[in-house]
Amino acid sequence: MTDKEAEVLHGIVTRAQAGIYYVQQNGRVIECTLRGKVKREFQTQDGGKWKHVFSDPVAVGDKVTITVAEGDKGAIETVLPRKSKLSRKAPGSYLKLKSGQTRTPRRLRSSSAAPGPTPLEQVVVANADQLLITLSTKVPEFNSYLLDRFLIVAEAGELESIICINKMDLLNGSERSKLYQTMRVYEDIGYKVLYTSALKREGLEELVDLMRGKLSALAGPSGTGKSTLLNAIQPHLHLRTAEVREKARKGKHTTSNVELHPLDFGGYVVDTPGIRELGLWDVWRDEMHLFFPDISPYVISCRFSNCTHVDEQGCAVREAVAQGKIAKTRYDSYLKLRSGVLKDSFEAAGKFSDRRARRSK
Ligand code: GDP
Ligand code: ZN
Repeated sequence: MTDKEAEVLHGIVTRAQAGIYYVQQNGRVIECTLRGKVKREFQTQDGGKWKHVFSDPVAVGDKVTITVAEGDKGAIETVLPRKSKLSRKAPGSYLKLKSGQTRTPRRLRSSSAAPGPTPLEQVVVANADQLLITLSTKVPEFNSYLLDRFLIVAEAGELESIICINKMDLLNGSERSKLYQTMRVYEDIGYKVLYTSALKREGLEELVDLMRGKLSALAGPSGTGKSTLLNAIQPHLHLRTAEVREKARKGKHTTSNVELHPLDFGGYVVDTPGIRELGLWDVWRDEMHLFFPDISPYVISCRFSNCTHVDEQGCAVREAVAQGKIAKTRYDSYLKLRSGVLKDSFEAAGKFSDRRARRSK
């Protein structure tokens, strides 16, 4: 034992598995455990007992300080404040407080939490700069409702969105024009739209430019070409494409883990089924409009301050839709998502969990 204090180093968590955190520091990867004091920071007190609010206090993408004991083994000492987080409800786990009250944990942003059992929050990725939402023109068919759903995930996580429409090679001239017209709605809102073909290597330079130096989280329905696109711009990544994943599934059981991949041209990318299926954490029904940048400016002009913009008289949102100032498709997504979130908040109260359990059998 020496009384020399261990040096404190800065790093970023690239992978987490079974209580071990892989921290990239200066080009090397150090296997770290978590100090007890870090765990406690992410707990909340209930009648003298400490309970977890997160399924895991440290997420991939977290910037941390570590001390290294020997070789490539170390310990996480502190987690630096997050600039963004993509979360979901950890499946099947709830924070149950004996007092029956919802408390604001020390590190949890206060939000309009619903009463009753609160599902544990699982931070899938911390500190992402942008959500790269990939959809395809065909196979699977372009679907603007799904796009809107992913855009909400980005808005809720306070991330920039890049919309990437892949498989452009499958469209003929007139189909292309029609798609460009559809996407004008999104460009007018201010979203960046990219058109790519991983197969024909179209639009890849622009994609690289947008990803350079940033931490990008990949999102989008499966089969749209996310893995193929990334392998095309970063060949050493070897992300598993749909075909390879299918083979792996038929073979031995493989767990899909969240992993941060460093990019040769600068930046990181994280690809995870967890993000692809993100629930609408932190988005409550009556706040849904906040995540539609094209809808929210009209809300202030509604006759009733508690207007839901569904069927009220004097609703400025519906008026704007009627005048073509808000795209009908976007308003339809708002309505659909709003009813979806209603269901989610019931699930948070445990009312739908039985039925869901039955359905998944
Ligand atoms: P992921 O699930 O989003 O990761 O999708 P994959 O990368 O596994 O791709 C799904 C399928 O789409 C594969 O068969 C790819 O070969 C195919 N694919 C990917 N990009 C393109 C493209 O630009 N054009 C065409 N025609 N097919 C593509
Ligand atoms: Zn209204």
